[in-house]
Amino acid sequence: MPALYIHIPYCLQKCRYCGFVSFPVNYQEEMPSTAGQKDYVPDAYIDALCQEMRETAEQRYFSGDNGYKYTNNIISTVYVGGGTPSLLAAAQLARIIAGVKSVFALADDAEFTLEANPETYTREKFLAYRALGVNRISLGIQSFQPEYLRYLGRAHSREKAAEALRGAREIFDNVSVDLLNNLPGQTLEQSAADLRTALDFQPRHISCYELTVERGTPLATERGTLAAEKTVRNELGAEMYLQTKKILEDHGYAQYEISNYAQAGYASRHNLAYWSDEPYLGLGLAAHSYDKARKLRRANTRDLKNYLQKIFHRESEPENDFNKIMMGLRKNSGIPETYLDERQKAAAQKLVSEELLVWRNNNLCATNRGRLVLNQVLLELM
Ligand code: SF4
Repeated sequence: MPALYIHIPYCLQKCRYCGFVSFPVNYQEEMPSTAGQKDYVPDAYIDALCQEMRETAEQRYFSGDNGYKYTNNIISTVYVGGGTPSLLAAAQLARIIAGVKSVFALADDAEFTLEANPETYTREKFLAYRALGVNRISLGIQSFQPEYLRYLGRAHSREKAAEALRGAREIFDNVSVDLLNNLPGQTLEQSAADLRTALDFQPRHISCYELTVERGTPLATERGTLAAEKTVRNELGAEMYLQTKKILEDHGYAQYEISNYAQAGYASRHNLAYWSDEPYLGLGLAAHSYDKARKLRRANTRDLKNYLQKIFHRESEPENDFNKIMMGLRKNSGIPETYLDERQKAAAQKLVSEELLVWRNNNLCATNRGRLVLNQVLLELM
């Protein structure tokens, strides 16, 4: 069953490391809305999204599992990401959900995630989201340390992060927290303190990624070209990764992907679809889709003006078979042997002898050591 992603490309402000397709709204400025209330996401964007849904529903070009119309498939997970989807007024989310339900069939037990920035939290809004069917909140906290919140350009304070996390846990059973690791100058103790603060609230799921400074962002300019490269894991980063794994495993969170940990039964079904070569449909600005039946990847326009004018400019390209190896090896459960050709099998065997990969239940998996040098492992498999 396919996964559905919906992109909301608006944020309170642009974080200093952010390379996602997102645009700051003026938090202070009241934007006109048909409902006459203060909305941060223009209604024109919701109009365009609903139009894209209708067009997609008519297409036989982009199909789900069975190579037929997408609408013939039942959607198993919905993920509203961004950007900052928690800028959506409840009425706007209601319109999006009504649009989804008018063209797609949702599974009764569909996982429905909404990404939220702590600064946008209000109890009233989160209650409204729950009433609309959202059953999982992914809270982008990144750090509880004021100095790093400032450094990253996050909109929220430590106190607001705690308030939003407490509130989210009261309203939703399934709450995920995003944290960043290996920040400049960050000590092992600071990283552990962030984890312990998050653990105090017992979220069901924790993602802990290394900071990646994207080219063209203010942080990249400030830190120079070298720093603009994807983060190279240094010794401290490796220690932090191992420490994170130990702390979370000691507290009952199982690692299921290199940067993702969950209590039993709470792994993200939506993200597992991406990492497990499952088809998905992306709607919204710059959203990506994967047509597994036809081995095609498709990207929507990144031009907001075009999108608002309902010009979606979708471009497709053939799927690169290596993607599924790259994504699959990030999962603890690894990849089946059938993903590999003969040359890759020989390369994998060498990596097994070096204890960077291991065969487990007929799947090829990265070992702890292998995960620390996963890029190098992937290069040898290419
Ligand atoms: S909240 Fe997320 S998407 Fe928005 S600017 Fe910050 S990192 Fe980027």
